Amino acid sequence: MKVSRTDELITAISAAAIVVGYTADTPPEGPTAEADAATNGAISKLIEAGEITGKAAEVVSILAPAGLQTTQLVVVGLGPADSLDRGSVTRAIGSAAKHLAAKERSRVAFFVGDWDGPLVEAGVSAAICACQGQDIHRETNKLHPFDEIRWSGAPEGALEAGQVLGESVNLTRRLVNEPANYIFPQTFAEQAGAAAADAGLEVEVWDQAKLEAERCGSLLGVSRGSTREPRLVILRYHGGAADQPPLALVGKGVTFDSGGYSLKPNDSMKTMKCDMGGAATVLGAITAIARLKLPVNVIGLMGLVENMVSGDAFKLGDVLTARSGKTIEVLNTDAEGRLVLADVLDVAAEMKPGGIIDLATLTGACCVALGLDVAGLMTNDEELRGRVSAAAAACGELTWELPMFDHFGEQIRSDVADIKNIGEGRWGGAMTAAKFLEEFVGDTPWTHIDIAGPAFLDSAKSWIDAGGSGAMVRTLVEVARDW
Ligand SMILES: [Zn+2]
Repeated sequence: MKVSRTDELITAISAAAIVVGYTADTPPEGPTAEADAATNGAISKLIEAGEITGKAAEVVSILAPAGLQTTQLVVVGLGPADSLDRGSVTRAIGSAAKHLAAKERSRVAFFVGDWDGPLVEAGVSAAICACQGQDIHRETNKLHPFDEIRWSGAPEGALEAGQVLGESVNLTRRLVNEPANYIFPQTFAEQAGAAAADAGLEVEVWDQAKLEAERCGSLLGVSRGSTREPRLVILRYHGGAADQPPLALVGKGVTFDSGGYSLKPNDSMKTMKCDMGGAATVLGAITAIARLKLPVNVIGLMGLVENMVSGDAFKLGDVLTARSGKTIEVLNTDAEGRLVLADVLDVAAEMKPGGIIDLATLTGACCVALGLDVAGLMTNDEELRGRVSAAAAACGELTWELPMFDHFGEQIRSDVADIKNIGEGRWGGAMTAAKFLEEFVGDTPWTHIDIAGPAFLDSAKSWIDAGGSGAMVRTLVEVARDW
């Protein structure tokens, strides 16, 4: 999608649709007032009639508006003036764009007033994401990206940054939305390599033989049941000073999770193509960081396996030896994400990064605790966790910290190995999983983000289709901006 600035007046521009904003409880102002005047008070009349309220993300279409060179004027609600932030802009502009994307449109013009760079960036990225649906294998798509976005009053660089961000979130979403017969470790690694090369990143891929040579016994144990070979993709971006310790982003990439011998029931398994959401998030974020040329060093590591059942699959009671040398008793083959991450975190920690952030669709327990829209944060370093929380809040993404009390760690002690891959009973599963991961990061400041809820939407929102959400890509880019 082409994105560019316009300096034309709202009454002069010719577009398939024009979008203006309306803030609750205020008279129309700026371009909205100009559109109101041009349309002989159409907006004012609808406000008076209560049809337009300015409620956040409300979308009202005025068809064939007089006085404008368009067939549709969309008035999108921006909520109360004091609540305008990147989150509310994402929802509002996304809702307007998704409404318009139901049909093919050539040019859509946004006249939403004088926003600062971050708000414009959020608006543009939301519009790009809103036009992309999960129906990538349908002959006729339900959503249609516009040919062109024109944005009025954009500060320098904001449109370009918004476009990079939107496209990067869409890259994450597309990979999550691709079914597991299309995306498996090798094809994920190929597509990650291609996207990374386009963004100017250094690409290294560990195949089965290399993973064996590196003694990644925990990751390989999970992979054994699949005919698809595992991969570890390592991407490097050098944007900062040579001696600046990098930020390491680590993603769980289980391209399909059957649960293994701890087999999932049908309903829990049917969306398990999304269990590589952490790896896809890391890929989206690091390609965005590189394309934005942020002055920071970043390493992205994606552990890619398929968790399947076969005569050779790992079994309950098996003991795996992780790359770090720790032995792990497997008491649930569906708690495989932590086994994959154990080795990838070990590789990451060895690179002496300034901090590690891992992302994983790790536990149903995190969804039970926080609901489906909130990512759980667990850490060994409150400072790093605070930076992740602040970045998420700035982007309008929802996170909440979960505790890392010592007794959660006691629950993963094993009688036959150093640790086991599941806690005692079902309670506190998000934290016992995080305690397991903590065993492999050493002294490195580390924050774990459990995205089991927000990475995949079971139903659509008004501003984004169901399926892969690209949650936390924006947050990771924000962390890198301030690294
Ligand atoms: Zn699992």
